[in-house]
Amino acid sequence: MNTSSDCIFCKIVSGQIPSRKVFEDDEILAFHDINPWAPVHFLMIPKTHIVSMAHVGPAHQALIGRMLGLAPRLALEAGAGPYPEGGFRIVTNTGKEGGQEVHHLHFHVMGGPRPWLRG
Ligand code: AMP
Ligand code: ZN
Repeated sequence: MNTSSDCIFCKIVSGQIPSRKVFEDDEILAFHDINPWAPVHFLMIPKTHIVSMAHVGPAHQALIGRMLGLAPRLALEAGAGPYPEGGFRIVTNTGKEGGQEVHHLHFHVMGGPRPWLRG
């Protein structure tokens, strides 16, 4: 697995920084965002250090597909309402102009009753 020693999400994967876990398997970790914008707001990350969506290529297709395929179930389990009245939003900030602050690929999954703080 690729890791970066100064990456906070790699430290969450290794347990050096604590997180409130939503889901974990051998390749994927999901944990609650520390600064939620919505009643439900968790992050899904690959355990391996991929910098951003701009660094994703054909070799990552299966992993990205698994992450997105898992998101609906985790959103419901975390408290998002069912479609169509409920639902959720998946956001991936990429690069400076894309608003990315943590440079380890992550999908924000947000849901729950509105209004939200942001988003
Ligand atoms: P982004 O701007 O897309 O890079 O978002 C980074 C997200 O990571 C923000 O929503 C932060 O609140 C969240 N975050 C930063 N540090 C932690 C942490 N230790 N545990 C959980 N979420 C975090
Ligand atoms: Zn990392």
